[in-house]
Amino acid sequence: MTTKEAQSRNIRSLHRDELEDWLVTAGHPRYRCDQLLGWLYNRRVSSWDAMGNLPKALREAVSQEFEIGLPELVRQQGSLDTTKKYLWRLSDGALIESVLIPANPGQLGGASDRKTLCVSTQVGCAYGCKFCASGLDGWKRNLSPDEIVGQIVAAENQIHADLAEDEARKGGEGEELRRRIDNLVFMGMGEPLANYPRLIKALSILNAEWGAGIGARRITISTSGLVPQIKQLADEPPQFRLAISLHGSTDEVRDKIMPVNKRYPLAELTEACEYFIEKRGKMITLEYILIAGVNDDLELTESLGALALRLRAKVNLIPYNKVDGLEWQRPSEAKQELFYRALFRQGVTVTLRREKGHDIDAACGQLRLKAEKSTRANEALS
Ligand code: SAH
Ligand code: SF4
Repeated sequence: MTTKEAQSRNIRSLHRDELEDWLVTAGHPRYRCDQLLGWLYNRRVSSWDAMGNLPKALREAVSQEFEIGLPELVRQQGSLDTTKKYLWRLSDGALIESVLIPANPGQLGGASDRKTLCVSTQVGCAYGCKFCASGLDGWKRNLSPDEIVGQIVAAENQIHADLAEDEARKGGEGEELRRRIDNLVFMGMGEPLANYPRLIKALSILNAEWGAGIGARRITISTSGLVPQIKQLADEPPQFRLAISLHGSTDEVRDKIMPVNKRYPLAELTEACEYFIEKRGKMITLEYILIAGVNDDLELTESLGALALRLRAKVNLIPYNKVDGLEWQRPSEAKQELFYRALFRQGVTVTLRREKGHDIDAACGQLRLKAEKSTRANEALS
């Protein structure tokens, strides 16, 4: 672990108590803490100068101790009413991405009111699932809490800027600063549970009323199956939701596409899920990407159905999103439908996702990979 990872100096890595302690120790009044947090999470500023109601001496002191920067937007794709993808540059130049998804597609052509942000937790991924763009270049580093939190804050700012621009075009008054993101899913780049302490710290900030104010029930953590951390998560006080990237209902299939299964085979994963469900009394989700000729054999619906019923879990079927440079394909729509129906007939709660954002590389790691490839191509040319 690098020193930067161990100790981020960015102020958005701090819990309220830590900030308050620092302020009081440095001789500032306690009430300044809430003022500062208001600037960080309600006004979402990225400069100390913007904090008009704070004395200059405090702004100077705090700016000497902490950084305040947010991930910088490099590129965005998609429109506000549909899936939208943000590519961010971090302070060391690393690229990560977040995806904004309207939770209820807009009715009658109107904009959706609920928004979900899909968040990254690492640069790259060490788990090397064969179908996934995030792991293609290996693992680079963990994100610090502020880099995780910063994706939400920066995305809120971006949504706000887009809405304000839209309003201005229509001759309106401009948008208020209210929060726009209702749900978070940790399904971006990286394995969230492999970055456990920083993830939990970020979650405590995102979950808090003084922070991003997003309820734990509206936060889903997705994992490829890290058994010890699933159990640890079950023991955390907030009621975060859990999604398992299953993608195979037998060890044979899972071993072929997800190296993590060799370490934590299905029996152990199932037992960890049972522990989570027992502790939480909450339904978990089993994510199942449909990949042609790999895991879409209809016979597999028997073991998948049995597992889902045993765990009383919901199954999300996701047609595979093509990744440049990988051979994998999604099955035909007819095949997807048959797979879905075979599970439905067993009494499984199952959904078949019409992939949003297929056209804008919305699957995890894809936009970053393209951006890095084009940067490398540019470097090679210059
Ligand atoms: N590492 C965590 C979270 C990030 S991946 C995990 O694996 O759960 C988020 C989800 O996207 C996972 O379910 C992953 O399997 C899926 N995914 C990866 N590549 C995909 C692709 N090309 N098409 C569709 N889903 C994909
Ligand atoms: Fe990593 Fe998840 Fe992609 Fe597997 S699916 S390589 S664990 S990001």
